[in-house]
Amino acid sequence: MRAVRLTEFGKPLEVQEIPIPDIGEKDLLVRVCAAGICHSDAHYRAGRSAMGRMPITLGHEVAGVVEKVGAQISSHNVGDRVCLHYNISCGECEYCKAGNDQFCAAVRMLGHHVDGGYAEYIAVPARNAIPLPEEMPCQEGATLMCASATALHALSKSRVKEGETVAVFGVGGLGMSAIQLAKAAGADKVFAVDIQLDKLELASEYGATPIDASRMDAVEEIRKLTKGKGVDVALEMIGLRKTMEQAIDSVAYLGRAVMVGLNQQPIEINTYMQVLGKEAEIIGSNDHLLHELPLLVDMRRRNILDTSRVVSQTIPLDADKINQRLDDLEKYTSDVRMVIVP
Ligand SMILES: [Zn+2]
Ligand SMILES: [Zn+2]
Repeated sequence: MRAVRLTEFGKPLEVQEIPIPDIGEKDLLVRVCAAGICHSDAHYRAGRSAMGRMPITLGHEVAGVVEKVGAQISSHNVGDRVCLHYNISCGECEYCKAGNDQFCAAVRMLGHHVDGGYAEYIAVPARNAIPLPEEMPCQEGATLMCASATALHALSKSRVKEGETVAVFGVGGLGMSAIQLAKAAGADKVFAVDIQLDKLELASEYGATPIDASRMDAVEEIRKLTKGKGVDVALEMIGLRKTMEQAIDSVAYLGRAVMVGLNQQPIEINTYMQVLGKEAEIIGSNDHLLHELPLLVDMRRRNILDTSRVVSQTIPLDADKINQRLDDLEKYTSDVRMVIVP
């Protein structure tokens, strides 16, 4: 089969002819019908993250059709349409049993530690394959598996309740899903904070109140719009020091600030003013969980979550085109979401 692979850090991905993977008794062989190109793939190509093997097939946002079923598997059949949870965990340790599979010591990620979906076929444990409803295009199934899933996990960590107010800092793919999921959870008002007008416009189409942080102080504006109280939940989706501090500053008494964007830089917190005095919480949200994905797919199926505007271009399994896209992502020149259709 053909696979587009990382062979050396900092070099363009290459197309290679490799054998169709063998599967174990609890695995599936899936014929890939869509694989999303994610910003993290640009980081992997550049060598900013250690990979589980080299060469490796990239691609962790994958949907496809079951081609072969392992001997012990009765949950899936040949021909089933599925989308794939990208974290492969053991299923048996204390974390996996409690549903916190992101902390499994054996966790390996598709397209990062093991071969991913920039290929004609992929092998995965059957428990990682979530049924994809007939009416949902493959491309949407694939892209749900990353940003939208991470947004759902962040909202679950925030414990948002009906009637509460939410502020989303950064309304790219992650934030746009978070706005819709917050509304679906019954949030009374959702504020979208960004500096890009086109994103703020789309955010307001999804029912958010836009706050243009290039023109005003986001925290002051949130206070003004909440009669001085602040929001019950603030979600930080960017990973910038400034927006992390703003998210913490914007919460009300008993508010929860959830950190989702990645940043290694420390921030300063005034414990009394920002946390203790308000009984506020700063919550970390890391990735997402296997058991959250069927719920997410169902929310998409019921149109609670609209991701139809997320995928805007498809390309074939072509190394040059994929490298070009990764170059664009390195330069942050494009918000277009691209999906490989082999
Ligand atoms: Zn991704
Ligand atoms: Zn485990």
